[in-house]
Amino acid sequence: MAILDILTFPDPRLRKKAQPVEQVDDRIRRLVDDMLETMYAAPGIGLAATQVDVQRRIIVIDVSEGHDTPLCFINPRLVAREGTEQMDEGCLSVPGFFETVTRAERVTVEALDRDGQPFRLDADGLLAVCIQHEIDHLDGKLFVDHISILKRQRIRHKLEKQRKEREHAEAARARSTAEPRRSAI
Ligand SMILES: [Zn+2]
Repeated sequence: MAILDILTFPDPRLRKKAQPVEQVDDRIRRLVDDMLETMYAAPGIGLAATQVDVQRRIIVIDVSEGHDTPLCFINPRLVAREGTEQMDEGCLSVPGFFETVTRAERVTVEALDRDGQPFRLDADGLLAVCIQHEIDHLDGKLFVDHISILKRQRIRHKLEKQRKEREHAEAARARSTAEPRRSAI
């Protein structure tokens, strides 16, 4: 297994729409396992393939308290939604920010599991929110699209600034190690 790089907002690759998985084979299973490992390491409770720059309709979720109940949804599809609920949401691709988002309170989702078997699941509470959040990712949508433009721009500017600072620091580090040592003789 491997820990994958998670793209950060406003990376344009997060806006790509994921394509359905045609066949659940070993390659897909390996990706699912890597996504789970990446999600647990982050740590997070959900991850979509688009967040690790793979445009396939795959999401993994674990909302259990013991972090021991991994769920995998391949080609997930919401077939029913009911009620509305507001919850504070965060996202591994929008690190450090939490905003209130309105979503359906209960959903029914149909998907394939890690073995390619179809299943149907009724969800409410945090799991329902998480499923909707992750399916949004597969359509190139982020939770910040559900909040005001002003708030979204504020988050965007802060994350862009952080990324630039990080890149400067890395470049400075690379320069300092690349420079040959000079000794006076
Ligand atoms: Zn997210």
